[in-house]
Amino acid sequence: MSRFWSPIVSTLKPYVPGEQPKIANLVKLNTNESPYGPSPKALAAIAEAAGDALRLYPDPTSMALREAIAARHGLSAGEVFVGNGSDEVLAHAFMGLLKHEKPLLYPDISYSFYPVYCGLYGIEAVEIPLDDAFRIRVADYDRPSGAVILPNPNAPTGIALPLAEIEALLAQDRERLVVVDEAYVDFGAESAVSLVPAHDNLLVVQTFSKSRGLAGLRVGFAIGQRPLIEGLERVKDSFNSYPLDRLAIAGATAAYRDEAWFDDKRRTIMASRERVAEGLAALGFEVLPSSANFVFARHGQRAGADLAAALRARGVLVRHFAKPRIGDFLRISIGTDAECDRLLAELSAILEG
Ligand code: PMP
Repeated sequence: MSRFWSPIVSTLKPYVPGEQPKIANLVKLNTNESPYGPSPKALAAIAEAAGDALRLYPDPTSMALREAIAARHGLSAGEVFVGNGSDEVLAHAFMGLLKHEKPLLYPDISYSFYPVYCGLYGIEAVEIPLDDAFRIRVADYDRPSGAVILPNPNAPTGIALPLAEIEALLAQDRERLVVVDEAYVDFGAESAVSLVPAHDNLLVVQTFSKSRGLAGLRVGFAIGQRPLIEGLERVKDSFNSYPLDRLAIAGATAAYRDEAWFDDKRRTIMASRERVAEGLAALGFEVLPSSANFVFARHGQRAGADLAAALRARGVLVRHFAKPRIGDFLRISIGTDAECDRLLAELSAILEG
């Protein structure tokens, strides 16, 4: 605390990022990164961009990347916004689009950055509990509100909402903006991007951090109709007009174009997820049905905190969640096959011991 802090900084409760360990050789299944890394074509593009041109500012509009993303969806670059990780894209959406006189709605439990942005921008929020099966119940959002944000699949549960449910949410109030945070959509959920042309109250946010193995490059994007994108650009240009550097624009553009690499890796991760879910169930865990690159699971007998600590002592890092409304869960990212085997073997040893 300093007497120079503004009142808003004094009351902020900042997000606590998952551990990025300094110790080597840990099996890192705690922050939902890809175990496979980026497309070799992305690495080649980054290497090529890492030259004398770095003395020049990047393209402030990141046009090459926006065009690559738009082309995939039959949209124009004006319907795509890019930022420094989807966290930054979301931050701009909270500041520029989600602050209203009426409250913002989001599920409890969901991405824990949402309340942080609400604190930062003074946004009133109402948290809507999940149902007894940890699902988002769209009918609960049919109430006076300024906007809605929800992850699909939800995080950290991993449970996806079908597209028809997103459409129902959009139809509840055409004057209310719905932001769908699709950080994990490529692992088996249906994307709402196809709904954008017919819905001016929809913004879809995605990231390069998970299915494209580029968490370290910090690139995310939003897709929506032009007026929404222009709103985000107004915020961006009042904050940092060069959010993506030259390496990020080059690497992300090449990664987005390499559909084969992306498809192969996301399918591999989905297959490993099913194997992990079965293995965990055999060890006495209840595993929620996941459409993400992680599973959310709780053990009938053993406390999540103890299991997470015992795994860490054996070199495996997972994330522990405990909240009154949801109980005591582990969120386990899907690693390589060898990492998944190691996780199951260590858990089995812990539970036997
Ligand atoms: N949304 C959700 C639901 C997430 O879990 C994450 C990752 N922590 C993000 C957005 C942000 O990801 P990034 O900033 O790496 O794009």
